[in-house]
Amino acid sequence: MTAPKRSDSASAAVRMGGMIPALRIPEPIHRKMVEQCRAEAPLEACGILAGPLNANEAAEASLVTMIYPLRNAERSPTRFSADTRDLLEAHKAMRARGETIRAIYHSHPRWEPIPSATDLARNAHGAIPWVIVSLLSEPPPVRVWRLSASSYEELFWELVTVAPEGWGTVDRAERAS
Ligand SMILES: [Zn+2]
Repeated sequence: MTAPKRSDSASAAVRMGGMIPALRIPEPIHRKMVEQCRAEAPLEACGILAGPLNANEAAEASLVTMIYPLRNAERSPTRFSADTRDLLEAHKAMRARGETIRAIYHSHPRWEPIPSATDLARNAHGAIPWVIVSLLSEPPPVRVWRLSASSYEELFWELVTVAPEGWGTVDRAERAS
């Protein structure tokens, strides 16, 4: 008789109220993510934001240090699913580097950065935050959400201007070696 969704919402509300970000994205990683979304438009782009597995403090546990761009296997302007081989390689690289998924991201080339019905129906990531980049306006708005099967709630996120040590991008070419 537990209500995990409800307690998730409560803790998110506390985070929003206290302005403690659920996700902290360094500027160069944010830039890289937006560049990828622009480059792949009008198709949706997607990828993973990761951070160190061993994070003791809340500030550390929300910090992104690595971006893993993935190919959209559907090559669609309205939906995405990560290429399974890219996904496998990313998981392998994350394991080797001692990282965990902080968020998954995708773009909405022609829509607001708000979860679509397709996004909700396809959410198989539990409590992992969803980052949505919209290309509707400049600079591209980025919003972060927690999805359930039928609803979503917005999470507060922060752009980190000082890049953390060891941040980077793991591109496909590097992973494939
Ligand atoms: Zn979407």
